[in-house]
Amino acid sequence: MGLPASGTLQLSSWASFCNVGPMKQKNTEEKKAVVLLSGGLDSTTVLAIARDGGFACYCLSFRYGQRQAIELEKAKTSSDRWGAVEHLVLDIGLDRIGGSALTGSIEVPKGRTLEAMEQGVPQTYVPGRNTIFLAYAMAWAEVIGADDIFIGVNALDYSGYPDCRPEYIAAFEKMALLATRTGTEGKRDLRIHAPLMHSSKKEIIQRGIALGVDYGSTHSCYDPGPGGRACGQCDACLLRLKGFAEAGISDPLHYRAKEEK
Ligand code: ZN
Repeated sequence: MGLPASGTLQLSSWASFCNVGPMKQKNTEEKKAVVLLSGGLDSTTVLAIARDGGFACYCLSFRYGQRQAIELEKAKTSSDRWGAVEHLVLDIGLDRIGGSALTGSIEVPKGRTLEAMEQGVPQTYVPGRNTIFLAYAMAWAEVIGADDIFIGVNALDYSGYPDCRPEYIAAFEKMALLATRTGTEGKRDLRIHAPLMHSSKKEIIQRGIALGVDYGSTHSCYDPGPGGRACGQCDACLLRLKGFAEAGISDPLHYRAKEEK
């Protein structure tokens, strides 16, 4: 990412010395980055990675009609905790388009095996979501003068999502240069960082823990109950629990019991 190694060292050692995780001090020479922050496990880890890499982070979240809008509260907590310069929450009504278990009346699948999750594109796919999110991130990056966008997509655990693949990210990056004034004038590069692309959930959690991420302040469940409690049965919950189990770390989240609705 072309960042000084000293910045990384300084941040990490400060974090471990104080044992509080994130660093809140701002460095005026930090490069700006737009970080797509859903409030989930992956994007929160990406925010920590971007901060550890020395970026001044402009976090971008969306109220898009998702069932799990509780994640936006988590996003706010994490953007504060990690000293984001700004946290912008935009309203876009993807629920009016529907076509997804996350925004429509389609039931969120529960209790699926890993094999079943890997078959085709899941019901929780939201049509066009990452393209729409990245387009907003691209626009904001151009306005604030950021060359870097961070996104927490992952091609391993969610191989069924077409807009989480490396070829998709590479194509968007290329398109963004054609689509923006700064790109066509050759003044700027635009890099889309997807640092979790090839990581397992276990590796993502281990990396986040090392950086000081508080996973109790994240939300993954696609179908939360009252108070935002995770169901423990949807794909997102099952993959998260599997990741924590493989990492040998207990998930700080409280899950609701199976019989609870
Ligand atoms: Zn769940």
